[in-house]
Parts: sequence; structure tokens; C-alpha cells
Amino acid sequence: MDLFDPVTGLSDRRGFLDLLAQAIAAIDEQASIGLLIVDIDRFTQINVAYGYGVGDEVLRHLAGLAREVARANDRVARIGDNRFALILPRLKNRGHGELAAQKLLRLLEAPFEHEDIRLRLPATIGGALCPQHAAHPTDLLAKAELALAMARHEGQRYRFAPDTPGAGTLSDQWDMELELANAIDRGELSMYYQPQVRIADRHVVGVEALMRWKNRHRGMVPPDVFIPLAERTGHIRKMTLWAMNTVLRQCSQWQHRWGALSVSVNVPSELVAHNDLPEMVQNALQLFGSDSLRPMIEITERSLMVGDRALTQLHRIRDLGVRVSIDDFGTGYSCLAYFHKVPASELKIDKSFVSRLLTDTASADITMLIIDLAHRFGLDVVAEGVEDQATMDKLHGAGCDVVQGYFFAKPMPAEECERWLQSFGAPAAG
Ligand code: C2E
Ligand code: CA
Ligand code: CA
Repeated sequence: MDLFDPVTGLSDRRGFLDLLAQAIAAIDEQASIGLLIVDIDRFTQINVAYGYGVGDEVLRHLAGLAREVARANDRVARIGDNRFALILPRLKNRGHGELAAQKLLRLLEAPFEHEDIRLRLPATIGGALCPQHAAHPTDLLAKAELALAMARHEGQRYRFAPDTPGAGTLSDQWDMELELANAIDRGELSMYYQPQVRIADRHVVGVEALMRWKNRHRGMVPPDVFIPLAERTGHIRKMTLWAMNTVLRQCSQWQHRWGALSVSVNVPSELVAHNDLPEMVQNALQLFGSDSLRPMIEITERSLMVGDRALTQLHRIRDLGVRVSIDDFGTGYSCLAYFHKVPASELKIDKSFVSRLLTDTASADITMLIIDLAHRFGLDVVAEGVEDQATMDKLHGAGCDVVQGYFFAKPMPAEECERWLQSFGAPAAG
């Protein structure tokens, strides 16, 4: 598939997301990745006033300036009509990212000249850093776009995303690791629950349990920050065990109108191949299992790469009556030859496809393919990240079974979710 923009020869939005994912996968522990989003102000007016030919020249001009700012390992892409992105791997600190933004703005001060046209090209730049602001490509992009919107709103020419409490700088990571080691004992972890709704009859069929960490100094630390840290440092094992027990204990208290409630716990790939994962699951079930619950674990495609050991563990887990869901499906590692051996009963379509379902035909095609693939193998399909009715209607038409997303509810603390379950679908009072 062609991932280049024909006007500028730069990577297009999809190519850009690939490049960003590659940069994040190769991140150097000592450095950050900077992402700058550059938007030409009033580009539409330029097109209207001078025609698309001149508009294209302006885009090529800006592409040239962005390339001038880029260093050897930096990457430039055109990610929207008048929107460019610069990926700056190996930033030592935010200051270097700011320097790049300033340099580009300085280059833009010279007017653009084409035939007898002379134009000033004011632009606005938003920036974000990985891992400080986000650790996933689409989230990092969202943070940089937020920064851009804030810069516009505040009348600044550039700004960086606001600091996420707890996300800290790299020198902070060590400190955070120590705090994380004690998070369970200090009672700083909690589980939130996000409902899953069956499209056909709008019944709530399950919840996904999502971990939250509220640190005494840092406040809420986003899971995208602390989960990867927990995985790197090995704390994730204890945290997963704690999550399984907590989730079964909390959810077994709930009243649920539509039969046994499916409850999903995320299990990272490192644990899937571990010999004692089935025992962990079994112990939790013995302590807190209940007939009113249908436990499920969510694993990612990456888990399936670790081979036969993982498969054996998954079969043992399924024999305990725990279903397996493959999370973030479609984001990379699928091996179709291997896929049919996995004792899974559900596929979750990654929210990066779902959120672009209505605007990007490739995402729509991939979503349809995943739904067909899943059904062919007898699996249910859950779409996550559903934020609006139109997306839900489209998924319904495509035969998707279950949806999860802000359209119905955000992840909530246990008591709030229990109340939500009580009121959802009940006739309005009065
Ligand atoms: P995930 O497993 O893919 O979880 C879904 C994420 O999508 C959650 O983010 C959820 O809040 C978010 N989400 C749900 N609906 C929407 C929507 O409509 N719009 C948008 N924009 N987002 C939506 P969250 O809770 O921040 O978790 C992020 C990731 O952290 C999870 O991605 C998962 O990989 C990891 N994680 C969270 N809790 C746990 C846990 O208990 N254990 C493990 N191992 N990983 C966890
Ligand atoms: Ca999940
Ligand atoms: Ca997911």
C-alpha cells in the first residue's frame, strides 16, 4: 500500500503512524521522542484565493522547510491537509524539541514566493514527548494535537502538551519505579470497570477491568506510563495477581440483570508464557469465583509470538473455565498460520481502527476483515473506543457483536459501575 503523500513526497498519515510506532519501539532509555505537529494557519484561504496549484506549492515549500530543520534520524510527514509532523527521536530534553519548533518558525518568517505571489505563512506548532506525555503512537499524536489546539487558543506560536501528573521526566523514572513497588501495599492501586454492550439487544454483557494508580505525590499516573514500567521492572506479576483477586471479589457482589457477567482482566504477554499463570488464575477463582461471573483474560497478539509454551498455558486456563480474548487485534503481530491454534473466544478490534472507521477507508476495511475473520473462527468481536452513534451503527451493519467505549461509559470505580449497571437500560423514572 502506498503510504506517501503525492504532493510532497512525504509519508502520509498512515506512514507516519508506522514511523512513530517504529521510533517508539526503538526508544533509547536515556532519551525521549519528540513529536511536533505543524499547522499552516488559514491554508484554506490560500487555496481559495490563489487556487490549488499555489496551495500545493505552499505545501511543498513547508515540506522543504521541515526537512531543513530535521536532523539525520528525524522524520517528516504530512498527516493532514495542511498539517505536518516531525518525529524527533533521541531528544535529550524538551528544550531540544523547543529549539526545533523555534527554528521552523524562524524559517517561516521569510515570505513564500511563487511567480508573482508573495505570502507570509504563519504557522502554529504543538509538541509532545514520549514517554512523558504518552507511550502509544495515536495517544502521542493526540497529545501533540491537543498542544496545538491549546497554542491556538492561547495565541502562542508553539507550545508543548501540559505535563501529565506522574509521567515525569526520565530521571524521574527510577523514583517512580520505587513508588510503584509499594503501590499495592499503600493501597494506591484500584480497578476501574468499563461496560461492554451487545449491539443486537443493547444488553450489558461484560466489563473490562482497567487498573488505576493514584500515587500520593504524583496523583493519577496514566496506565500507559505505569504499566510498561511495571512490565520492565517485573512488578507486573504481583500487580496482575492483585488485579485478578480484586476484580473477582468486587464484581461477584454485583447484581446483573442479563445472566452471568463477563469480566475481563488484562494479562501482559510476559506472564502468558509463565508456568504459574494457570495457578494464579485458579487461586483467584477458588478465593473469589462466583457463578454470576464469566472470567476472561485479555492477552495481546504479542503473547502469541512466544510459541507453544503460551499455547499450553492458555489451554490450561481455558480448562479452568476462563475465556481468552485477543486484545488490540490488528495492530501488528498477527500470524494467521498460528491463529487458529489459540484457544480464544473473542477478538477485540483496536481502537485506532474503530476511531477512524468513518473517516479512513483502510481502517474501515481492516475492521470488516477482522469481523469476518473472527466469525469464521467462531469468535465474538468486541470493538473498543466507540465514541459515537454513527460508529456504532456502522459496526452494527458490519456484524460486530459487542461495543465498548465512551459512547456508553468511561471506565468507572467499582461502586459507580455497579450503579451504572443498575440504571442502564432501565426505564427512565417519572
Ligand atoms: P487496553 O487494554 O486496550 O484498554 C482500553 C483502553 O481504551 C483503556 O485505556 C480505556 O480507558 C480506553 N478507552 C475505552 N473506550 C474508549 C473510547 O471510547 N475512547 C478512547 N479514546 N479511549 C477509550 P486505559 O484505561 O488508559 O488503559 C490503557 C492501557 O493500559 C490498556 O489498553 C492496557 O494495555 C493497559 N492496562 C490498563 N489496565 C491494565 C491492567 O490491569 N493490567 C495490564 N496488564 N494492563 C492494563
Ligand atoms: Ca484490554
Ligand atoms: Ca485494547
